[in-house]
Amino acid sequence: MSLTDAEAQAGPRRPAPPDPAVLAAVEAAVPGISRARVSDRLGRAHDASHYLLTPQAVLVPESAGQVAALMRAGLPLTFRSGGTSLSGQGVSEHLLVDTRRHFRGIEVLDGGSRVRVQPGAVLRQVNARLAAYGRRLGPDPASESACTIGGVVADNSSGMTCGTHANTYRTLESMVVVLPSGTVIDTGAPDADARLRALEPALAQGLERLRDRIRGNPESVRRIEAQFAIKNTMGYGLNSFLD
Ligand SMILES: Cc1cc2nc3c(=O)[nH]c(=O)nc-3n(C[C@H](O)[C@H](O)[C@H](O)COP(=O)(O)OP(=O)(O)OC[C@H]3O[C@@H](n4cnc5c(N)ncnc54)[C@H](O)[C@@H]3O)c2cc1C
Repeated sequence: MSLTDAEAQAGPRRPAPPDPAVLAAVEAAVPGISRARVSDRLGRAHDASHYLLTPQAVLVPESAGQVAALMRAGLPLTFRSGGTSLSGQGVSEHLLVDTRRHFRGIEVLDGGSRVRVQPGAVLRQVNARLAAYGRRLGPDPASESACTIGGVVADNSSGMTCGTHANTYRTLESMVVVLPSGTVIDTGAPDADARLRALEPALAQGLERLRDRIRGNPESVRRIEAQFAIKNTMGYGLNSFLD
């Protein structure tokens, strides 16, 4: 595609300025979290996909509590970490939330048989820490030098050697999740189910209804087991209802 003369003379287009009402809502939720300079916005306007979407601002939270405050404000948020996704999941014309910069912690546990990792840690860095114990994580996407645990978990990444037996779903023990309402749940806590039922009754009941519907239908069980035994299954992880 070539530029028209008028386009060539006009030079590169600056993105439209961000909506002041959106920036004000962000500031009210978590003061000082927005990065809305043109360079911040253009720097995150693309990921490894072919999409180009310029965000209104890039938000850089420092804690799960700040993410929860953004969620509670009802803002349109897209999370962004290593930016290696291939289908445009990491770009948005609304608000991008960078969960990479301030979430890089890696803590090796139990002689390397477990590891507690924050979502911004790069997969290769986690594996470098585990190598000292002769261990590595299950998922092995070819983007491992740049992709992060947050993106790997959200995408249920796999890779050339992990098959379906050691993909992200099979590697995860527990997660700390921030729900759209702002509720924070540590799924590894002994009272996690009770907390979810108490704090998010509609969500808990909805999940239990879906689980029972799937488990009560032998044809659904057969189909899900067959689909998730192969590697190229996409969409929601319905197999988790059978575990
Ligand atoms: C060269 C190359 C090779 C690749 N090879 C493979 C491969 O072999 N196997 C494979 O499975 N994939 C592969 N991928 C795809 C991609 O790298 C991986 O899927 C990876 O998991 C994306 O991680 P990321 O940190 O870059 O996430 P991003 O691209 O930043 O985000 C991915 C998704 O996760 C969400 N997300 C990110 N952080 C969080 C968070 N903290 N909380 C909630 N949601 C979050 C985002 O909103 C987005 O939907 C490849 C990509 C490239 C460019």
